[in-house]
Amino acid sequence: LEEQMRHTEKMVAVGELVAGVAHEINNPLTGISAFAQLLLEETLTDDQRESVALIKKETDRAKGVIHDLLLFARNTERAAGPVDINDALGQVVRLRAYPLRNGGVDVQLALDPSAPRVSGDAQKLQQVLLNIIGNAEYAMRDRPHRVLTLTTQGHGDTVSITATDTGKGMPEEVRRRIFEPFFTTKPNGVGTGLGLSVSYGIVRAHGGTVSVESVPDVGTTVTIVLPALSA
Ligand code: ADP
Ligand code: MG
Repeated sequence: LEEQMRHTEKMVAVGELVAGVAHEINNPLTGISAFAQLLLEETLTDDQRESVALIKKETDRAKGVIHDLLLFARNTERAAGPVDINDALGQVVRLRAYPLRNGGVDVQLALDPSAPRVSGDAQKLQQVLLNIIGNAEYAMRDRPHRVLTLTTQGHGDTVSITATDTGKGMPEEVRRRIFEPFFTTKPNGVGTGLGLSVSYGIVRAHGGTVSVESVPDVGTTVTIVLPALSA
């Protein structure tokens, strides 16, 4: 518990710092990108066009990182409303249906129809599920056997959501660090290392917990437990 509290304090402090910096960087990047776009509409030599296109592309990539940073920084705010976890999960699966099918992932859904609703922010909870499903997709991309099993289960005053993948898994020294902001094992430009720290912050803000079990070369299970509405 003490370790968890230290972690939460650290997250809040880093979050505030990051929010400030991200806002300051986002504005000039938006300007650079917009003016690069305007330049591209001018008559340019091929070399000039190539350079300006590169400015635009790299600026937009940096904006993508800033977008993740802002999500990370804002995760301590909390809007409250009743959220049906089955609906939230269903929507995220629909959103990812195309890439999942394209990636040859067999999605198994086992939703508990009597899972209680939770109190919170549906969009943020969907962001969490999107992050977790995105990680699972990535972990399975080179695997011959790709199954993503998603479950919900009501337990009276709590509801759990699990995502089990048949991906490459992770060793203990990686698993221990996955909730650290900016920790990633993915190549530059692919991962920001913010997905799970953002998710951790969102779930904690909903009074819940996230745990991860993983076996290298077998797969990973992420479990989220949230308090039921009016429990
Ligand atoms: P990112 O996806 O940008 O790397 P995350 O915070 O989402 O950042 O994840 C951090 C790291 O945790 C990943 O780089 C990866 O090493 C590990 N990880 C997360 N989910 C999984 C998974 N389902 N299977 C294997 N490794 C995972
Ligand atoms: Mg991720």
